[in-house]
Amino acid sequence: EKNRWHPILGAGWRDEEPATIFDKLMSGDIPATVVKQDDKIFAFKDINPAAPAHVLVIPKDRSGLTRLGKATEEHTEILGRLLVAAAEISKDKELGFGDGARIVINDGPDGGQEVPHLHVHVLGGRSMQWPPG
Ligand code: IMP
Repeated sequence: EKNRWHPILGAGWRDEEPATIFDKLMSGDIPATVVKQDDKIFAFKDINPAAPAHVLVIPKDRSGLTRLGKATEEHTEILGRLLVAAAEISKDKELGFGDGARIVINDGPDGGQEVPHLHVHVLGGRSMQWPPG
């Protein structure tokens, strides 16, 4: 059997992809400031914000998506959903966003990724610099 089903989330995961801290945030085992969620995506405030406004958007089902580099054609829809959610969040003044934001996906060790569950960083509330470090 390829997938099991999470009793709370209803989202499948594959055994070869172990749970991360993000699963505990989604299940409520660890408190999170949830900004937005639907059947496929979950968004919450970053615990160590790198900007005045910093939200992470993740797929509830991390099957095959521990990192962006693993994305294939079958992930087209969820990748679109993540970016649309990021766009909506980036316009939320109550979260501290201004006019525009920095949308970042750290992919793998050289990309600075620490948590092996794909996540989109939405950073704002100040002017961003380029190039990033
Ligand atoms: P990465 O370096 O792109 O993998 O980003 C991981 C992000 O997860 C970092 O910005 C962390 O601050 C954030 N993070 C780690 N643990 C938690 C948590 O428990 N709640 C909210 N954000 C977290």
